[in-house]
Amino acid sequence: MPILKPKIRGFICTTSHPDGCAAHVQEQIDYVKSQPALQNAPKKVLVIGSSTGYGLASRIVPAFGGGAATMGVFFEKEGTEAKPGSPGWYNSVAFEEKAKAEGLYARSFNGDAFSNEMKEQVIAAIKEDLGQVDMVVYSLASPRRTDPTDGQTYRSVLKPTGDTYTQHTLNTDKGTVEEVSIESATEQEIADTVKVMGGEDWKMWIDAMQEAGVLADNFQTVAYSYIGPEITWAVYTDGTIGRAKEHLEQTAAAMNDQFGEKTALVSVNKALVTQASSAIPVVPLYISILYKIMKEKGNHEGTIEQIQRLFTDHYCSADGPKLDEKGRIRIDDWEMEEDVQAAVLKVWESISTEKLASETDFAGYQKEFLKLFGFGLEGIDYDAETETLRPLPN
Ligand code: NAD
Repeated sequence: MPILKPKIRGFICTTSHPDGCAAHVQEQIDYVKSQPALQNAPKKVLVIGSSTGYGLASRIVPAFGGGAATMGVFFEKEGTEAKPGSPGWYNSVAFEEKAKAEGLYARSFNGDAFSNEMKEQVIAAIKEDLGQVDMVVYSLASPRRTDPTDGQTYRSVLKPTGDTYTQHTLNTDKGTVEEVSIESATEQEIADTVKVMGGEDWKMWIDAMQEAGVLADNFQTVAYSYIGPEITWAVYTDGTIGRAKEHLEQTAAAMNDQFGEKTALVSVNKALVTQASSAIPVVPLYISILYKIMKEKGNHEGTIEQIQRLFTDHYCSADGPKLDEKGRIRIDDWEMEEDVQAAVLKVWESISTEKLASETDFAGYQKEFLKLFGFGLEGIDYDAETETLRPLPN
């Protein structure tokens, strides 16, 4: 059995720690349990993209806060005897073990959510075990998608759609502030990013489930988006990914015409360290600055706190989800408060490698990043050999 240490390559860590991942899941469960139980929570929830980041939190909150039965879909790698699998695999194993230990129904599917086969498999399982689901969370973040209707594989890019964009960025490997210039995407790259990260697949899931009769009357579905500050707009909101998120919102509107108001919503979430966000240029530097300011203000949240608030303040509140003028849920409200953004901008304007330690929470960023892979958690013996073969419980 191997001894597992972090091996960081650019913005990913190529190793993970099964017990650390389980401890990370437990931390999130403990947080949910420390909060008042959810009232009127959905009881049967499907989470697509349930193994890490926002999707994992979206599985933990209704399960451990509301007693929901959950199904999860993800694309992860199981470990071998010699090598660890991906953290999302171990998170999912830990989630299922902990859910089942408390008598909660949990079933997971590892494979390509974009495929027809996965949709058929999940629908069959819902029919078999749950009959119907009352909530579908769509939380995929993927660099590619094979569209089952034409068999073509599309790749998403993170680029501006206007002029070449030059901005500060953080080399998270070296701990240096650098300048990055990103050239504008081609029309093809924009269209391909919309294909991967837009709403097409979300709607394919909902249509397939509707046709199969596995959606409860008054079901609800939510997908996640991001807006953030102007300094990141060129590469995010106004960039290729922003176009995809625009398509997500249009898809929600189309589904609401079909199924009724507030059935399908986009929730705009806070910028947080996840495997997906660490791949976006500029964003890790923004997050490092933001974390320091929000921690000092006392309103910093991680994915679990964000999703807890999504349920308590929106899905489980007596008047249901509260929406902005564009019909979106805003749990990025604390991030976007004027004083927070003004403070971020002030640091941003003169940030340099020398000021990284004193004016940002890069240390917190690094800690959070390692935790995504199960490293740096208390109570774990990182010098011990660890079993890397961890099957999902039956
Ligand atoms: P993440 O990388 O932590 O999670 C992605 C999930 O998608 C994982 O469960 C992964 O297994 C799954 N997945 C990827 N490809 C798949 C496939 N082909 N089939 C099945 N599962 C697949 O990402 P995240 O940051 O939690 O992002 C989730 C959503 O939240 C995205 O829509 C993202 O844009 C949005 N969001 C993220 C942030 C942020 O700062 N991280 C902020 C706001 C919104």
